[in-house]
Amino acid sequence: MHNALLEAEQFGMDTVQVFTKNQQQWRTKPLEPGAVRDWTTELKRLGWTDRVVSHAGYLSNLASPDDELWNKSVELMTIEIERCEALGIPLLVHHPGAFTTSSAQEGIDRIARAYETLLKRTSGFRTILCLEGTVGAGSQLGGTFEQLHAIRSAAAGRTGSPERIGFCLDTCHMHAAGYDLSSRESADQVIARFDSVCGLENLKVMHLNDSKGKAGSHLDRHDHLGRGTIGGKPTPAALAASGFQTFVNHPKLARVPMILETPKGEDDQGRAWDAVNLALLRALRTGSSRVSAVKEARSRTRPRNEQSSKLRPNTSKSRSRNPLKKADPRKP
Ligand SMILES: [Zn+2]
Repeated sequence: MHNALLEAEQFGMDTVQVFTKNQQQWRTKPLEPGAVRDWTTELKRLGWTDRVVSHAGYLSNLASPDDELWNKSVELMTIEIERCEALGIPLLVHHPGAFTTSSAQEGIDRIARAYETLLKRTSGFRTILCLEGTVGAGSQLGGTFEQLHAIRSAAAGRTGSPERIGFCLDTCHMHAAGYDLSSRESADQVIARFDSVCGLENLKVMHLNDSKGKAGSHLDRHDHLGRGTIGGKPTPAALAASGFQTFVNHPKLARVPMILETPKGEDDQGRAWDAVNLALLRALRTGSSRVSAVKEARSRTRPRNEQSSKLRPNTSKSRSRNPLKKADPRKP
């Protein structure tokens, strides 16, 4: 798993986002103590202990009205948090969930109740749970800043631990949700809007992706920077006129880790896409702000299992309280 850190270092990145377990499976295997040791050693050497990020798997739905699925989701999220704690990962990003057959308000209440259990179980842990903004498709929660705020407020009210609840914003998701980021001016307004509704101080992680879908399309399809409807063209000039410029150089976002979740592989000239996208981001940086342009450790597949009917049965019945025994030795 520490290979993810080494790979990010090779690309000249200064943080990384990983899955600490297979993101498409309920089942988890214990983390090998050796893997934890190697990870921790490299993490300290790199000095990324304050900004390394984990992304939770896609199966959990903390907003589900179905008790069985909700319980399984809470169990899985507990394991995710325990693994972050064991690995010294301070930030865990997850999708808020989908209310499916209930209502938005009920879904928000389910998430808040899930947080109550999760934060009680992991009391004293340092990991901050970051609610990721979504494209707001179907019954998916988190497609508006107002809804993100409502979820965090409800969860903070139930847990009394607002300091452990933050946000993650994804440029593709925001744009597709209807917050147009195709120009600097509109992106400036979007950030100001987020600040007034949610508070920029609660923004802990950014995902920088272009969007295949148009603004307001509610389509969650990430694209390479400048190849989608946000950047328009893959040139420094085009990106400098787009919302990417705003995010990369916003003074209040200088401390926020920025993660590329763009497709993997190579472009038609044989260059690694991560290197291409990273170079474009670096070209945007104007001042002293720190761009933590990063990658994740394994290629990402789109979340598709929002409905309980599509979910695989849970094969792990018992859950160890020891995070070292719960992790998956496979590298993320
Ligand atoms: Zn994202």
